[in-house]
Formats: sequence, structure tokens, C-alpha cells
Amino acid sequence: MSPTAWVLLVAAVLLAALVGSFTCVVIDRMPYQLDEPDEYGDAWGTRTWREVVAGRSRCDTCGTEVRSTDNIPVLSYLLLRGRCRSCGTRIPAFHLLVELLVPLLFALAFWRYGWSWALLPVTVLIPPAVALAVIDLRTFIVPTRIIWPTFFVEVAVCAAAAGLLGRWDLLVGCAVGLAVFAGPLFAIWFIHPRGMGFGDVRLAVLVGWTTGFYADGSPLATGILVAIAVFVAAVLGIVIGIGALGARGRKAQVPFGPSIVLGGYTAIVLAAPILEAFGGTATT
Ligand SMILES: [Zn+2]
Repeated sequence: MSPTAWVLLVAAVLLAALVGSFTCVVIDRMPYQLDEPDEYGDAWGTRTWREVVAGRSRCDTCGTEVRSTDNIPVLSYLLLRGRCRSCGTRIPAFHLLVELLVPLLFALAFWRYGWSWALLPVTVLIPPAVALAVIDLRTFIVPTRIIWPTFFVEVAVCAAAAGLLGRWDLLVGCAVGLAVFAGPLFAIWFIHPRGMGFGDVRLAVLVGWTTGFYADGSPLATGILVAIAVFVAAVLGIVIGIGALGARGRKAQVPFGPSIVLGGYTAIVLAAPILEAFGGTATT
């Protein structure tokens, strides 16, 4: 590798670690526990973005500010052995998991798409999608404060990428992807609103739109790719559901957000082999 390539690689790894760290801040600070459930039955509310980005991180238990030297992604968690330096309370394990997961998901996407404009939509999706999945796992809410801004950014990013590639037809794929992913979930929510939250339908709008970008502008290929994403999400949802029912009993709430995110991400990263199996091609 040339010196320039090394500098770029180191910069990319540092940037990915920073983004992973910021994703943790959002997961940590955006949801707050309500005194009693709100009108939708949610036990958690969300803070505004202004509140999320304001101030330094503090330990939940003793309130001590986290020093900058204890705020290094991955390393600090390992050096502190996952405990607060002042009071020794455990730092939730999702910190380490998310700080590793975000750079890993970036790396896998880069491995599949390389330096192409097609890399942009999935890259933009990864941090908010991980935040939404982990927040849903911890609190059973899917904050609109994250979904709608991300969706509008994603619409702009897909349009920009399609324009730069000279492939406006890719946006047709986005629209089909949105319909194929969110349509069935909307139907389930409409028929049986207690079975699934509307947050999952919104999340499917975001993930479906982005997944649809990757089927090379063919409506049929998009239908196939997104149907596979929905299938993967459903299988994961059943597995997580059985786990939740086993761990928490019959009345357990089951978060579906992580399955939607993983289903979409899997379809995006494996779009080429999946579509080739059906005689189609992925966006490159
Ligand atoms: Zn502490």
C-alpha cells in the first residue's frame, strides 16, 4: 500500500470509531424513562437533538463526568474493564458492542461496494440504523426524531448518488423497495395494531427505500431483493421473539426493529449474490 493509502485507511478507521462513539451517545441519551406510560403505552420518551448533543457524558450512577482520556472508543471500555472509574458501576455492554459494530458494518459495506457512489446510501444508513435497533432492544421505542431526519437525508443522498451515477432509474428501485418493505408491515399494523408498533412501519420505510437502491433500478429485482430482506427480518423476528418469550414470559414485548435493520443490511451487502441467483444484477 502507498503512504497515501495508509493515511486514508487510518483516517477512515478513526472516523468510523468516532461515529460509533457518537452512535453510543445517542443511544444513551435520547431515550429517558417516563414516570408513567404515555398515551401510546410507551414507557420511554425521547430528548431533543439539542439535549442529546449538549454537555459531557456522565456516569448514570455517581454523576461523575467522563474524562476525555476515558472516552476513547473500544480502548477505554476495555482498559476500565467496563466499569465507571469513580464508582465502579458497570457501563452497559452495548457501548463496546456498538463501538465495534459500527466500524465493522462500514467495513463490510466498503468491501462489497468499494469507492463507488453506490457506497453512499448504505454508509449513511448504518449509524442511525444501529442506534434505532439498539434503542428498540432496550426501550421498545423507535424514535421518530431519528427516523424522519434520516429518511429525508437518505432521499437526498440516494438522489445525489443516482445523479452522479447517471442512473435516475435507481430511484424507482428506492420507491419500490419502500412499498415492498413497508407495505406488508403496514397491513399487519392496520389489522392488528397491538401486534406491532407503528414505529416498525416507519423503520421499514427508511430501510426499504435504501435497500431498493441496490437492485440496479429493476422493479422486479427490487421486489425480489426486498422480499428477501423482509424474509430475513421475519425469521430473525421469530428467533428474537422466542428468546424474549423464553426469558421474560408470555407477556414479553418483542422488539422488531433490530430484525428490520439486519434484514435490510444483509440484503444490501449480499445484493450481488442474491440477485445473480435470480439472473439479475446489483447496483455497482
Ligand atoms: Zn460512576
